[in-house]
Amino acid sequence: MPIAKKKTAAKNNTIKLKFDTSWSYAPAPESKSAATIKPQYDLFINGEWQKPLSKKYFDTINPAKEEKLSEVAESGPADVDKAVNAARHAYEKVWRKMPAKERAKYVFRIARMVQERARELAIIESLDGGKPIRESRDFDVPTAANHFFYYAGWADKLEYAFPNRVTEPLGVAGQIIPWNFPLLMAAWKIAPAIATGNTVVLKPAETTSLTALKLAEIIEESGLPPGVVNIITGAGETGAAIVNHPDINKIAFTGSTDVGKIIQKAIAGTGKKVTLELGGKAANIIFEDAPIDQAVEGVINGIYFNQGHVCCAGSRLYVQESVAKEVIRKLKDRIESLIVGDPLDKNTDIGAINSKQQLATIHKYLDIGKKEGAEMYQSSCALPGKGFWCRPTLFTNVAQSNRIAQEEIFGPVLAILTFRTDDEVIEKANNSPYGLSAGVWTDKGSKIFNMTKRMRAGVIWANTFNKFDPSSPFGGYKESGFGREGGLHGLSAYVNLIN
Ligand code: ADP
Repeated sequence: MPIAKKKTAAKNNTIKLKFDTSWSYAPAPESKSAATIKPQYDLFINGEWQKPLSKKYFDTINPAKEEKLSEVAESGPADVDKAVNAARHAYEKVWRKMPAKERAKYVFRIARMVQERARELAIIESLDGGKPIRESRDFDVPTAANHFFYYAGWADKLEYAFPNRVTEPLGVAGQIIPWNFPLLMAAWKIAPAIATGNTVVLKPAETTSLTALKLAEIIEESGLPPGVVNIITGAGETGAAIVNHPDINKIAFTGSTDVGKIIQKAIAGTGKKVTLELGGKAANIIFEDAPIDQAVEGVINGIYFNQGHVCCAGSRLYVQESVAKEVIRKLKDRIESLIVGDPLDKNTDIGAINSKQQLATIHKYLDIGKKEGAEMYQSSCALPGKGFWCRPTLFTNVAQSNRIAQEEIFGPVLAILTFRTDDEVIEKANNSPYGLSAGVWTDKGSKIFNMTKRMRAGVIWANTFNKFDPSSPFGGYKESGFGREGGLHGLSAYVNLIN
């Protein structure tokens, strides 16, 4: 925690803390030596590493240094076809017939191996994606292992998950994931699919393929029958080839609302099942009776966590007017103390923006915010010379109709609005095309229940933010998508209930 150096008595006899930013931490970098990255990665199809039929590879870089880490294969339509055929064969010949408790053993084994290789996975996640090692080490990797454990436990208990019903797997699942939680999203998708007897073709995002490929190494070592999980790399065209492949039974997609809409159109009328987890613009609401310091910390965690590269990020803050001044002052003090820099340093709070394009998108929104008349405040921290960086930023004097309050920015940028009454804030919070998550900060339990009932968001946190557990479902309303991942709901997305 940063040290508050100067204490000055404020007028109302409360103690005002000022953060002295001249004070800095000694570097505490995690060693790269615990991670092995090969110079080139092929495709993991049918339990083997296969050269791409496309013969093409592309670079994956470290966004904190703009240096090449490795090159990965670009799957063309013929590679996608090969992967889907391998998944179909494994489904028909092996996996669907295997007793559920045997399937479970493999999923448990993968969970344990993710734990065993946690350090390496965390380092690679931070190198390839730019997120602080503290997050990849303490959140992404353990939560990924937990998902495998959780769904391994369900594999042979489906009659308890769906009492008096008979279930059957869907078949081959095409899974397409984004760059913000690469390993965790792969675990969210693969674990429930294979635990319920489906086979998988998974494609990670083009800027963050490495931990999915490491997971492929784990899967290979685990002895999972060939073809049950196939991991192929590539960009949007590869994703589209998976979506359009006629032998896919289900698409599970996490990513932008624009691509979600393309996918929905592409599969209309094909009988393919789909779950879509798309964008968000979460409202975080602070009432005057909230524990203010705790709320400020929750807001910081909610938007600056993972550089704001979180679809459920609390990017709209609604503060009750009577406490707005205090909250804004505390937020400004707190962002001044956030450490922006080397993702591998254990002190870092905010790492690198994932890609040049994403940084350009964030800058576009900073300009839009200023042009719309909002007031921008940024931390005064120094940024490293190379790499993609954005200072933690907040906007005050934001109007509900401003684009920075309506559109997903996917960066460390907070839009602050004020309100007076419960009805007003519910109206404003729900006035969004999205509905993925939200937060409520208040001392009153009754207010929490009132708010959560009336807000249109898939997940609502009360007096906390960004908490995840494999047993709780996650997913959105409106343009944030449909279908749920996690918990029992996550199981039902991978089974047919046949009677
Ligand atoms: P973001 O804007 O967060 O990068 P995208 O929706 O563009 O999100 O990407 C999420 C995932 O979807 C990535 O794996 C990407 O390669 C893939 N993708 C992009 N375009 C398409 C498409 N037309 N069809 C299927 N997948 C796609």
